[in-house]
Amino acid sequence: MEQVDLILSGGEVVTMDSHFTLFDTGAVAVRDGAIVAVGPTAELMAAYQAREVVDCSGCAVTPGLVNGHTHAPMTLLRGLADDMRLDVWLMGYMMPVEREFVTPEFCWLGTQLACAEMIRAGVTCFGDMYYYEEAVADAAVQAGMRAVCAQSILKFPTPDAASYDEGLRLAHDFVARWKGHHLIVPAIGPHAVYTATPEMLTACAELAEAYGVPIHIHLGETAREVEEHRAEYGMPVVPWVKKQGLFRARVTAMHAVHLDAGELQTLLHHGATIVHNPTSNLKLASGLAPVARMLAMGLAVGIGTDGAASNNNLDMVEEMRLAALLAKGASLDPTALPARQALAMATAMGAHALHVGDMTGSLEPGKRADLAVFELDAPHLMPRFQRDPASLYALLVYAARSGDVRDVLCDGRWLMRQRQLLTVDVDALRARTDELAARMDRFLIGREASVLSKLLAIGGVARERTFEVQVKVRLPDLEGREQMLDVDDITIVRSSLRRQYDTYFLFSDPDESRLRYREDEILDAAGEVTDVDYRLTLMTAAKEREFPKSVLLSRSRFDADAKHSPRFYREYFHPQREVAVHKERRRYHIRYGGTDFAVNFDQIIQPALPGAYLEIQSRTWSAQDAEHKADLISALLDKFGVQEAGLVRREYLDLAMDALAGA
Ligand SMILES: [Zn+2]
Repeated sequence: MEQVDLILSGGEVVTMDSHFTLFDTGAVAVRDGAIVAVGPTAELMAAYQAREVVDCSGCAVTPGLVNGHTHAPMTLLRGLADDMRLDVWLMGYMMPVEREFVTPEFCWLGTQLACAEMIRAGVTCFGDMYYYEEAVADAAVQAGMRAVCAQSILKFPTPDAASYDEGLRLAHDFVARWKGHHLIVPAIGPHAVYTATPEMLTACAELAEAYGVPIHIHLGETAREVEEHRAEYGMPVVPWVKKQGLFRARVTAMHAVHLDAGELQTLLHHGATIVHNPTSNLKLASGLAPVARMLAMGLAVGIGTDGAASNNNLDMVEEMRLAALLAKGASLDPTALPARQALAMATAMGAHALHVGDMTGSLEPGKRADLAVFELDAPHLMPRFQRDPASLYALLVYAARSGDVRDVLCDGRWLMRQRQLLTVDVDALRARTDELAARMDRFLIGREASVLSKLLAIGGVARERTFEVQVKVRLPDLEGREQMLDVDDITIVRSSLRRQYDTYFLFSDPDESRLRYREDEILDAAGEVTDVDYRLTLMTAAKEREFPKSVLLSRSRFDADAKHSPRFYREYFHPQREVAVHKERRRYHIRYGGTDFAVNFDQIIQPALPGAYLEIQSRTWSAQDAEHKADLISALLDKFGVQEAGLVRREYLDLAMDALAGA
């Protein structure tokens, strides 16, 4: 008799091989971490002598599940921010917290926690994409799990790289170190098209090709991503990544919710695969991936939980069930994505989607011994029918729960026996995760305390402490404004016509913060928009000093390019009030008395304020200079023939608010 290390005997063996062979009762023989034989129990027990025989009667023995896409360390961010749109969630919460807290220790700890959770759900292999992927790989190996680990690369600074060049170097070193490891397949992870440059994608593809490792990328996750990409580059995402040479490598596309038939065809043609993330797509309302169509085309589609911050668990049993149900609901076809296919996506096809199908995903001689044992005696799994042996797939996909997983073996090593984790010490993790959670809590509580700190957290902000001298005068109309400026000693340097759409977010914080989102359309002589500028300005309560005909304001301003939509800022900042002011502005830059002033003639469109407004303003960094300018403004007003009586010292905003309150 041939000697083996282990035989699992007496269970229903669900091989998930290409013929979907089932053995009832069956057995699996394992030696040196590999599957030696799979077949009827009696046959195997007669042919092999095992050091250990595990009785699996009353159980289903399946391939270990493959979680095609996750960000394992994000278990530590579980429940940190929920019920938000993807951009607010990602740019407003995940990335700022990650910049502050993500270290190799964070990634190791989070991955250990993720492994504990995944093993309990029968997972033996996962696809990961995160920072410090070295620590992720290390934690996975300690937990005894197989993983395809993609080192993230983004065009902007990340917790582990100040630039994408540095990110590429990290990825290069990581791949070189881990290539050939028995559990880890290193990979390159350009995060997404909207966080990449063309050069960056090309460099990633070259690196992946040189080492023969896969590429993981989020592709077509949201409609917005796809629309903005088309607007910016004039082509859909898949042809664009193809143009950058991405398909020189073996690509796994995550999500693929908003790719059209032609793009899917391109993926298929280039041997690229897809991982479907049903819970994440639902929770972030990204849309419904056309999974039935992908499968009909012959694409390999795996199933992933995505990170715990967008799921919020890593339960692959639940994910597999949802994938099947969602495909039916989305296509209004109950025959779409039957149970057997869903289990394939979570096992053999999922392994193929991660480009590790030769190694794992099915119970066949020659493959690594990665398997899960589901106990089938719980009430929610009763009764059993024998008429159709394939009903076992429906039992596993629609009725089973992760809690039914009794044992898990990966690479021939037990990771869980009788529901006891053997490689991860969850109790030891708990104290450390609690401590870290308390620190993240304090960080966010501190940040949420002021509008400024929230603004700074999303970056790109420049601070100016400025003194502004300004005056606003109500005019009956804009007639004769050119003549008004046509006086001695004034030089018009340049002028422009603008349409300004301001959204003011008002806060009742101690600073009386006002956040202004300004969409500034610059018009040519024909009234056509030639340029649009988006600015975000935070102004705190101004200290005012009155001069004979003007007001000196001193205040701090924080100015940034508005990279997001007003909707983003509204959802991120939660202002107490919001006021919209639209106006048409003719702006003159003039020189008078050796000083520059902006002279604005404004017609307020919304709310409909009567008359027009003349505004003269100048900004400076010194109080003394400001006082000098205040005197010059008084002189200017005399030249313009403006009487003091018409002076309006309040800003449009107050007027607009009055107008709104009166309406
Ligand atoms: Zn993801």
